[in-house]
Amino acid sequence: MSQLPTFVHELVPKLSSRELSSREVTQSFLDRIEKHQPAVKAFVSWDGELALQNADAVDQRRANGENLPPLAGIPIAIKDILCTTDSVTTCGSRILENYRSPFDAHLVTLLRQAGLIILGKTNLDEFAMGGSTETGICGPTYNPWDLTRTCGGSSGGSAASVAAAMAPIAIGTDTGGSIRQPAAFCGVCGLKPTYGRVSRYGLIAYASSLDQAGPFGHTIRDLAMMLQVIAGHDPRDSTSLNVPVEDYVAEIAKPFSGAKIGVLREQLDGPGLDSEIRAAIERAIDEYKRLGCQIVDISMPYSKYSIATYYIIAPSEASSNLSRYDGAHYGFRASLEKKQPAMAGVKAQSPLIEMYNESRSQGFGAEVRRRIMLGTYTLSAGYYDAYYKKALKVRRLIRQDYDAAFEKVDVVLGPTTPTPPFRIGEKVNDPVQMYLEDLFTVGANLAGIPALSMPIGVTASGMPIGIQLQGPALSETKLLEIAHAYQRAIDYQPRVAGL
Ligand code: GLN
Repeated sequence: MSQLPTFVHELVPKLSSRELSSREVTQSFLDRIEKHQPAVKAFVSWDGELALQNADAVDQRRANGENLPPLAGIPIAIKDILCTTDSVTTCGSRILENYRSPFDAHLVTLLRQAGLIILGKTNLDEFAMGGSTETGICGPTYNPWDLTRTCGGSSGGSAASVAAAMAPIAIGTDTGGSIRQPAAFCGVCGLKPTYGRVSRYGLIAYASSLDQAGPFGHTIRDLAMMLQVIAGHDPRDSTSLNVPVEDYVAEIAKPFSGAKIGVLREQLDGPGLDSEIRAAIERAIDEYKRLGCQIVDISMPYSKYSIATYYIIAPSEASSNLSRYDGAHYGFRASLEKKQPAMAGVKAQSPLIEMYNESRSQGFGAEVRRRIMLGTYTLSAGYYDAYYKKALKVRRLIRQDYDAAFEKVDVVLGPTTPTPPFRIGEKVNDPVQMYLEDLFTVGANLAGIPALSMPIGVTASGMPIGIQLQGPALSETKLLEIAHAYQRAIDYQPRVAGL
């Protein structure tokens, strides 16, 4: 069974010609999940029987002569922060360990309507707060290219599932880089769409002004096909954009019309960028020159404040969003029976307050608690102006930097990550080092613009390297077109990690 093709561009024609059934395809991915899950741990949960049932339904519709959407019958993995009615949605947290949503996330509904087969839910950092997929209740996901290294995060399970061909495509979410960084670390493509392009209804909130869901795939064309399915207006998300969805797949298939590409020299020549990544980016720039693109050096003076700004805004929003998990409304509730009596001199709390305190202390992991405390501090009276309000002002300056850049160029090109995949355990106890990994990715979230990562080679030790392209709001077509042009030019052949 596992000899079946694993790439979407091979599967789609075979499914539509009925040379392969969705049941066969789904079974082959379930076989690969069984085989690689013990080493990679990409999934939090999966339900093979349900997936096969759904595959049968699609096969039946096809047998009845129905004209199905292009991705019908293709299996997909979903990050476990998107609500699905037919499984638990844990967010990688003890506090939601047994949470079953009464509704599907809007994008899950769209995937089902398009006939995609949900294989299971993928691992993440708890509540998507992290960059290594190590902090969830299920423990780490391992990088399929080197099991001693992280797969990035927080959508690491989705990225790793695609890299190891446990799923041909997957969905992740990106608040500060959580699609692009794991895509780079796992040698696959990942897109964070424009804020508001994909509905956040049913995406459990981390930082609402930054969160956006998006696709992982082996090729840029896979991303275009998936965006086609999940993009669009949804009245249930008040920040969803009511703008028509372009025909991404048709547009990128057209001959490449060239582009003006901006290169942030301060980023590429600055300190902190791994030399092998720098060299790979320079080679990609040369490739774009050969494609007739104009390369323009640009400067974004405020980008150096993006990490500081992000790590005020994101925890502030998180502290507010996560206040709903109190032991009463959702999930985990701590038992007070084993609770020690209050220490001498400490005022005893009411049982209700104690229940809140205990449920939240035991239900959230260390990183989530850290962010809630940071965010509560930056939003508190007396510090609000100095931190939160100031961060909002700097966010505006960062946006203006992008606006100015996009007056000169179509896209900004640069590295996705400052380093290749680091080792499991290396940064998880050093928050500042972990936060610095987000140096190149958080800007796009602060500005609300689309950004993608695609593979451009490997380091001497075989670790994938990603390049990031960022474009103005709603420029997905152009962004995908420019990335696709590169993959066409080099005759890109996707690879599956040889586990
Ligand atoms: N690593 C970043 C953080 O910890 C981004 C996470 C994300 O995009 N969800 O917040």
